[in-house]
Amino acid sequence: MSRIVFFCIPAHGHTNPTLEVVRELISRGNEVIYYSYDIMRDKIEETGAKFVSCDKYDYEKKLSQEEAVKIGRDIAFSTEILVNTTLAIDDAIFADMKKLEPDCVVADSMAVWGKAIAMKLGIPFVSSTTTFAFNKYSAKIMKQSPKQLFSMIFSMPKINRNIKRLQNKGYPVKNVLDIIQNDENTDTIVYTSPEFQPFSETFSEKYAFVGPSVRPAVSEIEKTKEKLVYISMGTVNNDMLSFYKNCISAFTETKYQVIISVGNIVRIDELGKIPDNISVYHSVDQIAVLQKADVFVSHCGMNSASESLYFGVPLVMLPQTPEQGGVAERVKQLGAGIKPEKADSLSVLNAVERLLGDKAYAENAAKISRSFRKCGGAKSAADKILSVCKK
Ligand code: UDP
Repeated sequence: MSRIVFFCIPAHGHTNPTLEVVRELISRGNEVIYYSYDIMRDKIEETGAKFVSCDKYDYEKKLSQEEAVKIGRDIAFSTEILVNTTLAIDDAIFADMKKLEPDCVVADSMAVWGKAIAMKLGIPFVSSTTTFAFNKYSAKIMKQSPKQLFSMIFSMPKINRNIKRLQNKGYPVKNVLDIIQNDENTDTIVYTSPEFQPFSETFSEKYAFVGPSVRPAVSEIEKTKEKLVYISMGTVNNDMLSFYKNCISAFTETKYQVIISVGNIVRIDELGKIPDNISVYHSVDQIAVLQKADVFVSHCGMNSASESLYFGVPLVMLPQTPEQGGVAERVKQLGAGIKPEKADSLSVLNAVERLLGDKAYAENAAKISRSFRKCGGAKSAADKILSVCKK
């Protein structure tokens, strides 16, 4: 039996893929202790892991969901908040890890405090990467805007000051890449297939492409029309009232059943009249919906896109961040989705009809699905972690 400690940031997209892995590890008799934030407590405890809250270690204020996402986008903000969190949590987790003596630490690629403490104490480490694995080849698919590059150049002095703060605390980090990027020697789980990962052949054998770790559906969706269109912009940047209104106007009086998940910010009563063929919810059992859906109109978060393709559902893609743009670009390259120029009613409806009118899109999605299913998912991820654990 091994004792494994997980660390994650407070984002569903980063947490969800780890949950099945944790279940698998526990079912094989291992002990899992999971450091995360209170908003994730219930879903983590449901796996059987022991939950430890990181909210109280936050250096100034709680790391909100919005900030957790900005971490992936703004490198200066990222290092600052990640270094602050690492330093704030350092004493507590240092003492905990000394006591727990874990056989392995598994940390989300953004939860750098997990990687940092493992480096500091020499604990075997696995990175959990819920986006595409990142190197100079795959980076090309996530185009950085000139604004982002500028912000990075001008923030280097600040980034370097933050790196120094970590070094002073005994962390063996040389530069920003040591924190936010994995090198060829870091054991890394990537929740996609080698076929879907751009340039997968450029990564070392330390990388395990385990495929999406898809949780089971917990409910059943009734299909009331021949074709079901599912619409969601994810759990983070989903405050898009006018977009949902566009969708309602696009699909009113069509032959399609439409399910829209609007997230927790938008008020459903502000959407106007909702016709019978359309159902709107704050949140749905996305796995249950995708098992029945024919098209997914999505922001192309890595999890949503992967879950969609896992069930062979082609995508209409409306990415909002460079990372989502990278995922959308890859889906487009593999012919399993359409990226409309605009998100108005007509563009969305046209894209949906093109996907439904040409079988090639669903066939290409099915091909990616086969590549995912042969990867082994949570079982392969658990194998990788156990192979890294102290013997
Ligand atoms: N999700 C869900 N119900 C919803 C909307 C989203 O269960 O109504 C889940 C979805 O299945 C996925 C995650 O939330 O696992 C969203 O992750 P993703 O990476 O797609 O996007 P993010 O929310 O991080 O932008």
